Amino acid sequence: AALAAAKKHGDGRHCRATPQLTAAYTLSTGLEQDLQAAVAQGAFHLNWMPAIDTATERVVSFEALVRWNRPGHGEVSPALFIPVAEAGGLIEQIDAWVLRAACKEAQSWEQALGISVNVSPVWLSHSRLPNLLKRVLEETGLEPNRLQIELSERSSMEQDGNVRRELSQVRAMGVRLALDDFGTGYSCLSTLITYPFDQIKLDRQFVQALGHDRRAEAVTRSMLQMVQALGMTSCAEGVETEEQLAFLDAHGCEEIQGYLIGRPIPKLPLRKLNQDDSDTALEPISSD
Ligand code: C2E
Ligand code: MG
Ligand code: MG
Ligand code: MG
Repeated sequence: AALAAAKKHGDGRHCRATPQLTAAYTLSTGLEQDLQAAVAQGAFHLNWMPAIDTATERVVSFEALVRWNRPGHGEVSPALFIPVAEAGGLIEQIDAWVLRAACKEAQSWEQALGISVNVSPVWLSHSRLPNLLKRVLEETGLEPNRLQIELSERSSMEQDGNVRRELSQVRAMGVRLALDDFGTGYSCLSTLITYPFDQIKLDRQFVQALGHDRRAEAVTRSMLQMVQALGMTSCAEGVETEEQLAFLDAHGCEEIQGYLIGRPIPKLPLRKLNQDDSDTALEPISSD
């Protein structure tokens, strides 16, 4: 059903910008052509963004974020080229490249930290995601319980038995699932009930309103309570101030990401991680 619905909206492709805008922009700048070349060459690299445990302030995982240095243009934001890749049928190759590169790199770290990888909702049909994960985990030897997959709430994840089965298959492999950008756009509470997410990532939009918007604070508190009641963990995105951190901590948000904690970086400063309590060795993240 999801596939049929997606087809109706444009050939199984999901995009954030309007198709007209994306098409016009893409045509006028040759972006898609350059992106095609980049995909063929694997001309991407990764940045890593830490997430900390709010209570202990220890780094628990890193999120892989794709970067593209477009010849003659410098670094292009994924917020711009991911929708073009989704519209142009290139996203699966990019996501597969990122997943492989991220798992491989994480295998070389001396600490068995968790990693989180974003994948486009375009994957959610025909069981392609479980197959890709199985292949990449086998190839790289990464422990499945070190991997989390982030699916953005940007796209509508309508009720679909096939998608639910597919996501359950992923979890059965020991890989965790996060719902990214929660609270924006296509917010649908039934998504939380229908699909087996382990973690909900609270969108930056809510975090930024903390401290000066009572209504956004009330919604944030309620979302955190709900997530907890459903047995999932929460991670707040885009935390930039101590005040935001204090609010989220006080209301039971388990994990924090944002410029206050650390910006995305190309390589990990491994020896500096969690060094203030180096007597307790960092444990691999458990799968539950
Ligand atoms: P996301 O997964 O929600 O990632 C968080 C984005 O917010 C990142 O932008 C990050 O740099 C930014 N950010 C994090 N903390 C802060 C903060 O405190 N302040 C501000 N101003 N920004 C913050 P980035 O790297 O540009 O990525 C944008 C989006 O592109 C990601 O949002 C994700 O949806 C998508 N994306 C990135 N890599 C991939 C990928 O490999 N595959 C797919 N399908 N999508 C990706
Ligand atoms: Mg993400
Ligand atoms: Mg996010
Ligand atoms: Mg976000």
